Amino acid sequence: MNPVYNFSAGPAVLPKPVLQQVQEELPNWHGSGMSVMEMSHRGKEFSGIIAQAEADLRQLLEIPENYRVLFLQGGASLQFSMVPLNLLAGGRGAYVLTGIWSRLAAKEAQRLGDIDIVADNAHVADHAVPRQEDWQLHKDHRYCHIADNETIDGVEFDFTPDLEGIPLVSDASSNLLSKPLAVQKFGLVYAGAQKNIGPAGMTLVIVREDLLGKAQAQVPTLLNYAVQAEHHSLYNTPPTFAIYVAGLVFRWLLDQGGLAVMAERNARKAQALYAAIDASGGFYRNEVALANRSRMNVPFHLHDEALTPIFCQEAEEAGLLQLKGHRLLGGLRASLYNAMPEAGVHALIDFLADFARRHG
Ligand SMILES: *Cc1c(COP(=O)(O)O)cnc(C)c1O
Repeated sequence: MNPVYNFSAGPAVLPKPVLQQVQEELPNWHGSGMSVMEMSHRGKEFSGIIAQAEADLRQLLEIPENYRVLFLQGGASLQFSMVPLNLLAGGRGAYVLTGIWSRLAAKEAQRLGDIDIVADNAHVADHAVPRQEDWQLHKDHRYCHIADNETIDGVEFDFTPDLEGIPLVSDASSNLLSKPLAVQKFGLVYAGAQKNIGPAGMTLVIVREDLLGKAQAQVPTLLNYAVQAEHHSLYNTPPTFAIYVAGLVFRWLLDQGGLAVMAERNARKAQALYAAIDASGGFYRNEVALANRSRMNVPFHLHDEALTPIFCQEAEEAGLLQLKGHRLLGGLRASLYNAMPEAGVHALIDFLADFARRHG
C-alpha cells in the first residue's frame, strides 16, 4: 500500500513518531499506572509534563526570561477577544488586515473597544502584506495586531515589523515553530495548537511580562492573562492531554535539530510545490504576491473550477488527503506543516503533473 499524506490545514498531520509514542504510553504513562488523561493536573506526574513542555518550547524558540508561556483553551479565536480585553485598557488598538483571520480578529476586537484598521490588503490585486511604511500607526496605539500567516489566504509576512515601542501582537496559529522567531520583537504571540503544534484544544500564548496586569476589573478571571500567568496556566483544569502531546512534538522538533532545520526543510517543500504550480502553464495557479507566498498553506486553483471535485477524489484515491480548499475561497489548498515529510510534497507534485496530463 502507498503511504498516505494528509494535507489538512487543521486539525492537521502530527509526526508519526509522536503518535506512536502516544500509543505506547496511552494506558500507562511511564509506569505510573495511569493514562495522562486520567491524572490530576496538580499531581507530580502532570506537573513534570507541563514543566518539561514549557522548558522544551523555551529552548526551541529561545524565549527570553521576561516572557511568560501560557497553555490556554478556547482556540486562537478566543485570543481575538482576550487580546483587546487585556491590552486595550481604554485606549485604541491597531489592526493590519492581510486575510480572513486578521479580519475576524479585528471584527471581534471592535465589539470590545476602539480599534483602527491601519493597513488592509483587500484592494490590491495580488494578495500581499502591506509594507510597514504605509501603516497608519500612532504612538498611542496600545498594540498592533497582525496575522503572521493567513492560513486560508496563504499570505505570510516576509518581515518582522519594528513598531518603536508599540507592542506587536501576532496570531501565529499556522506558522509558529515552522522557523526560528525573534520573540523579543513581539509583545505577544499566540497560536491554536491544531495546525503546527499538536491536537486541538490548547492555545499557546507567549506574552511579555510588562503587558500583564492591564486588564480592566470586569474582565472574567479566566480571560485575564495575569491570572493565568500567576497560576502557571493551572487556575482551572488545563487541556492536559493536548499539552502532553504538544510536549512530545516539542521534543520531536528538538530531535530533528530545532527550528533552523525545520525552516530549511519547510522552505524546500514550499519552493518545490510553488515551482510545480508555476510550471503548469496556467493549469494550476496561486494568486499570492511572490514575497508573501505562505510556506505553510498553499492555496491554488485549477484553470477549470469544474475539475476541482474530480481532483479531490482522484487525489484521495492516490493517498493525498484533505486537499479541498477552504469553504470561503473554494479551490484547493495544501498545508505543509512541520510534520509533512518532503516525500509527501513530492508525491503531491507527481500527482499534479499526472492530473494535468490526463485532464489538460
Ligand atoms: C485556525 C486559525 C484560527 C482559529 O483557530 P481556532 O483554534 O479554530 O479558534 C485563527 N487564526 C489563524 C491564523 C488560524 O489559522
